[in-house]
Amino acid sequence: MFERYENSPIYPIKNTKGNGNRIYVKREDLLPFSLGGNKVRIAREFFRDMEEKNCDTMVVYGNTRSNLCRVIANQCYIQNIPCYMISSREEHEKEREETGNSRLMELLGAKIIPCTKAEIASAVEETMKAIEKTGRKPYYIYGNKWGTGNEATATAAYVKAYREIQDFEEEHALSFDYIFHASGTGATQSGLICGHILAGDSTKIIGISVSSREYERGVSVIRTGVESYLKDRKISRNFDTDQEIFLECKYNKGGYGIYDEEILDCIRRQFRKNSLPLDPVYTGKAFLGMEKYLEEQKITGKNILFLHTGGTPLFYDCLYAGKLKQEGI
Ligand SMILES: *Cc1c(COP(=O)(O)O)cnc(C)c1O
Repeated sequence: MFERYENSPIYPIKNTKGNGNRIYVKREDLLPFSLGGNKVRIAREFFRDMEEKNCDTMVVYGNTRSNLCRVIANQCYIQNIPCYMISSREEHEKEREETGNSRLMELLGAKIIPCTKAEIASAVEETMKAIEKTGRKPYYIYGNKWGTGNEATATAAYVKAYREIQDFEEEHALSFDYIFHASGTGATQSGLICGHILAGDSTKIIGISVSSREYERGVSVIRTGVESYLKDRKISRNFDTDQEIFLECKYNKGGYGIYDEEILDCIRRQFRKNSLPLDPVYTGKAFLGMEKYLEEQKITGKNILFLHTGGTPLFYDCLYAGKLKQEGI
């Protein structure tokens, strides 16, 4: 099903900051399955792994705004695979919010199991047991109930995408000095880092953290993703993985889903000047973080790729909530 969908466009956009950097975007949001995004590639890897493990029931975990859950629920519907979604809310949310993604998950028939953040592990365990009792074989995308053990699977997605970036570089006789993107679970970043390691190039991959996950924990998850991927493929390295991990946590605005007027301004500006749809949870936060990073580090005259990781329904959540209204131009 997913196999038909390869390659998303890469092209230059207008740099609205006048710092002399050449900014390009790779539009993962335009991948033509279930409204696109990095989760299309990541979900594909999970389905491949699920098949390899001979499982027949999907168990995912995510917030109500989760793009991954939407894409997985869509593919489950197509393949007639039961899909269970364990869904926690953030501390700052009083109750589960309805979002474009949560409505789509309903439309796709995902069975939603709400819980708090503290209850995730037990909800995973109970759900797995309940499915096993019915004689089916559940597949939990993140491995064990603590969410570890399956990092290499998701990492593979962006190792492959990295080759598309390399193809673009070759075709256009340029090389990207930096790749920026929104970093959440770390799967995208681990994959890009592995791609960069395998390519042996000097591109710096910079993940802008969109959640309150602490730096040490964020780095450790990315390290596990990179190392388990390389180990599975028996690729040995003679350097320290940590030297390749650049995770910026200071642009997270206090946590997942939290945003402010500065992010909204960035979204308005990018839609107006580049017709780029960004959202306040992932891509808008990351784009603003990239702009700040370039400014703070005084980076000029470089080739920069912003990986637009998707989240189209979140752009519309923001638009329909009236958040982009503003006087003047
Ligand atoms: C999930 C997601 C991310 C973060 O990707 P990870 O691989 O989890 O780090 C970024 N942007 C969007 C739109 C996403 O849905």
